[in-house]
Amino acid sequence: MKYCTKCVLPTTRPGLTFDEAGVCSACRSAEVRVSIDWPARELAFRHVVDNAKRKSTGYDCVIPVSGGKDSTWQVAKCKDYGLNPLCVTWRTPGRTPLGQKNLDNLIYLGVDHIDFQINPKVERKFTYKALTKMGTPGLPMHMAIFNIPLNIACRFNVPLMIWGENTASEYTGEAMHQGFRLDNEWVARYGVTHGTVARDWLDDELTEHDLTPYFGPLSFDREKVLGVFLGYYFSWDAENVYKVAATHGFESAARAKTGLYNYADIDDDFISIHHWFKWHKFGFTRLWDNLSLEIRNGRLTREQAIYLIKDAGDQTPYEDIDKFCDFLDISTSHFFSIAASFRNSTIWRHDEGIWRIDDFLIPDWDWHEG
Ligand SMILES: [Zn+2]
Repeated sequence: MKYCTKCVLPTTRPGLTFDEAGVCSACRSAEVRVSIDWPARELAFRHVVDNAKRKSTGYDCVIPVSGGKDSTWQVAKCKDYGLNPLCVTWRTPGRTPLGQKNLDNLIYLGVDHIDFQINPKVERKFTYKALTKMGTPGLPMHMAIFNIPLNIACRFNVPLMIWGENTASEYTGEAMHQGFRLDNEWVARYGVTHGTVARDWLDDELTEHDLTPYFGPLSFDREKVLGVFLGYYFSWDAENVYKVAATHGFESAARAKTGLYNYADIDDDFISIHHWFKWHKFGFTRLWDNLSLEIRNGRLTREQAIYLIKDAGDQTPYEDIDKFCDFLDISTSHFFSIAASFRNSTIWRHDEGIWRIDDFLIPDWDWHEG
């Protein structure tokens, strides 16, 4: 295992590249960010808004929302620019009471909203299949999040979709400059769908009929519906986005569910499980992502981050795993045996009954946990 010399991300992290100095593409990307001409980007956003208003026949834009801070930020920004949005949510089966509260708050900022719920029987089968086949319980969720709002935008003839942060531009240098558009290529590469589409998951148990909401629009003209990232036009930073959301009534949790922030990943009980799989597959957790961001933004040193990781352990979300197993109707022991089958043997070594990673970031890590 090797780690970025600036942040704490390992070479195993998908989408990350390292230069000769041992610095990761996310850190290099953050250096480039400093020189971005944000007023010019803001002007570009005004053009996007004007275009949408010209083409609009009712709703100017679709905003895919959850009950998260980014959603509140997106809605507030769009309202500031005089857009008439239609908000669309894929309703997670793991929605938390706080997630519902924050979603209600967002709707009361003054928007129309569709809370789209998929047949739980189909969702359960699909999630179980994605879990056992690819160790990616969040795959159906991501497929739904990308396709449902796009389908609705097409059906309502809405010319614009406004996404939040471009997660790809945060980690890869190359997408940084042209990364304003979300399209099929982006989803295939960065959308946590392993490059699959709904058709790839058809079998006797999951028919085309069952998977209807996961399919994209039958005819999608990317000139008619433009998908953009708000984070391209306005500097996206977790802390600042939270502050803006909070001034519009967004509430944080008493403590973080997973990772560092008590204002992120709090609207869904199952998202922590999606993140936790990184531990077996790549040897790091959500906390490492969050802390690396804090290092890049100058709010934390690398030493402080390492101390916090050591203190937190692997953050196995036991409570959420119980709820997830209830949803899937499987035992937790079965869940852990599935998770173990995705342990990456190129980094993990079994030694005297204990699994460990050689050359780990923290030499005196307590391996009994993991
Ligand atoms: Zn780095």
